[in-house]
Amino acid sequence: MSKKNNVNFCGLGLNLWLIRQCEAIGVTVPTEIQKNCIPKILNGFDCIGCAKTGSGKTLAFALPILQKFCEEPYGIFALIITPTRELAYQIGDQFSILGNTINLRSCVITGGMDMIIQAQNLAKKPHVVIATPGRLADHIESCDTFTFKNIKFLVLDEADRLLGNRFNDQLKVIFGTLPKQKQILLFSATMTDSIDKVKSITSKEVYIWKCEEE
Ligand code: ADP
Ligand code: MG
Repeated sequence: MSKKNNVNFCGLGLNLWLIRQCEAIGVTVPTEIQKNCIPKILNGFDCIGCAKTGSGKTLAFALPILQKFCEEPYGIFALIITPTRELAYQIGDQFSILGNTINLRSCVITGGMDMIIQAQNLAKKPHVVIATPGRLADHIESCDTFTFKNIKFLVLDEADRLLGNRFNDQLKVIFGTLPKQKQILLFSATMTDSIDKVKSITSKEVYIWKCEEE
């Protein structure tokens, strides 16, 4: 941890209950990406954050989403898309742990699991859905027991991998179901051309932060 990093989570605008949740998992000092992106997300900006693997990108979006959720808990609040099953479950675990005192319902939707059980879980209106693109697009095309039309946050985790050509068709299906008004958060290990491309789907008030330490 760098010496200049003397801001704590309290100074980033997070509420005490979230700071306590972080302490319970041994997280007390924000990483650079958390320090820079969390206040902007809390202030309503779209955000593009780039920092290497292991720099704490998950909490950089999960903490402000949880705080905003508490202020206005309603329906499916956040949709998080990530390229692999493993990442989806890791993110799901972080939301489960951090949200356990507020009865947060999260739901992981990936390939390799039973479609019907997943559809039932989506119908229960989870607050946070964490999904890989292919399986989520399958659900959108095959069932109408849930809607994303009221989501407040869209997160593209590992955005550089998601926004290459591989997931084009699935993302088109998913984006077509989302409301115009939402906060978009993109996190990535690298800033590539595809990230540039996505600036077009974010608002004018996009905050871009790239770790300079690499
Ligand atoms: P990234 O998405 O940037 O690759 P992760 O969000 O997966 O990184 O975080 C990597 C690890 O660091 C996780 O185990 C996470 O719990 C831990 N971590 C995240 N933020 C902090 C922090 N502020 N202090 C200590 N550990 C942290
Ligand atoms: Mg990550």
